[in-house]
Amino acid sequence: MGPTLKSMFEQTVGKYANKEALVDTRLGTRWTYKQWDDEVNRTANALRASGVEKGDLVSTVLFNTAEFATTLFACTKIGAVFNPINFRLMAKELEFILKDADPKVVLFEKATASQVELVVNKLPDIEFWSIDEQDLTYALNYYDKVSGKGTTRPQCELDENDPYAIMYTSGTTGLPKGVIHSHRNMVDQALLMTACLHLSDKDRGLTVAPIFHCAELHCAFFPRVMTGASNIIMHHFDAPAVIETVKQEQITSFFAAPTMWNMMIQEEFSKEDFESLQRGLYGGAPMAPALTTRLHEVLGVQLIQAYGMTEMGPAITGLMEEEQISKAGSAGRPLLNHEVRVVQTNEHGPAEPEAICKPGELGEIIVRGPSMMLGYYNRPEATEEALYKGWYHSGDIGSYDEDGYLWVSDRVKDMIISGGENIYSREVEDVLFDHPGVLDAAVIGEPDEMWGERVVAFIVKKDTQLNEKVLDEFCTSGSRLARYKRPRRYEFVDELPRNASGKLQKFKLRERTKALSE
Ligand code: ATP
Repeated sequence: MGPTLKSMFEQTVGKYANKEALVDTRLGTRWTYKQWDDEVNRTANALRASGVEKGDLVSTVLFNTAEFATTLFACTKIGAVFNPINFRLMAKELEFILKDADPKVVLFEKATASQVELVVNKLPDIEFWSIDEQDLTYALNYYDKVSGKGTTRPQCELDENDPYAIMYTSGTTGLPKGVIHSHRNMVDQALLMTACLHLSDKDRGLTVAPIFHCAELHCAFFPRVMTGASNIIMHHFDAPAVIETVKQEQITSFFAAPTMWNMMIQEEFSKEDFESLQRGLYGGAPMAPALTTRLHEVLGVQLIQAYGMTEMGPAITGLMEEEQISKAGSAGRPLLNHEVRVVQTNEHGPAEPEAICKPGELGEIIVRGPSMMLGYYNRPEATEEALYKGWYHSGDIGSYDEDGYLWVSDRVKDMIISGGENIYSREVEDVLFDHPGVLDAAVIGEPDEMWGERVVAFIVKKDTQLNEKVLDEFCTSGSRLARYKRPRRYEFVDELPRNASGKLQKFKLRERTKALSE
């Protein structure tokens, strides 16, 4: 029997029983690993008492809270499958996931109650538990369920290949799919990230990105728990509060999505505020090279980038501290034990793993490694297609350079084809981002009678003087961008549609242009 998240957690508890484990800044809770383990056991016993058995699902619609982390490890203790759901979903999306996942229990909080309320009647077999004091007829209170339960560790036979969680993809390119990961997948991913981040029990990590997302949970939170580090959890991201907490709690490392780093450097602060911070992690979406460079200048913090996808656990490549400037914009090199290939795309089906592209040649990124998902929940055909010949087909387009660094150009679905030429939206976005008056940028294709598609840019201005003419001149001067790639139309907006993890939701921009043209 190999390692599981349960055995790893219990080893940490054994070694670091009296060390600070979990701090929830919302409640002011501070638990040692022993105290946290007691809470975890109580929750596990409460779930069992409500009929949750091995293999049953337990869902959460929670922000970053101690209850989220406690329920997760409680599930591992009884072999239940954890199903963290995005707290920002609208009722319709939530209903879709809950019907697909069919959990026994759903935990939620005040901040997510308005969505939950709209779906409760359609899901009569599910028990809803609120972690807040709320006078709700349809829900039970988590603390009432847990209080009085024993702290004895529940007995459960668990195999390393048993499913640990089902996580729904963010749905930026279609309907969300439930990704099944095993305990072993996660132990491997956590060990890998522990090495990448040079973590030890001396670390104090901060959770600010959504904990339900695998980038935060698997790449930052799990590695810290496995090493016996301390975990400070903030309910949600708020740039000034993050800066304050880093200072107050003497944080040594944390993960934030590129858009969060961007918000932080817009704030007033001094380098001293970040003195304790040894390492920052970013990923989950591309970071414009201009932003990487600015971060280095302003923060003086060592950064590591991870590139990946939910299906792979997620991290598959990394760009380390010393490579940030010389290879800014690259996703780095394959992480230990991961094989990452760029192969020729195939119009008629999944790309062939042996059709390997040469350096500089663009193709689809495919990968295999120990954290690869077991498959999609309830979707055997989608699983077969995605894991064709044992390689996960990412749907991302990229290339390797001569030094073996991977460059992610676009998602297949975001690529623009204009006059028969491929235009990678990211290349155009990176150029726009380089303009000092641009705070945020997104590029999509819109239908064009003559060219098939034409490039449209959505811009959030930093400088109110900025206009279409200035940006057009900027894009075409100094060989920044070939003329056919430059945006033919600009829309200035207050903000861009992003999901809870900071990922651009380009489908919303496409819907918007479609609605305007009708
Ligand atoms: P769905 O499959 O439902 O559309 P999703 O693909 O957004 O959801 P995630 O697993 O959250 O689901 O996102 C993975 C994608 O995010 C990758 O395929 C890639 O396009 C992008 N991505 C992640 N990290 C990076 C990075 N460091 N640089 C560039 N792109 C990244």
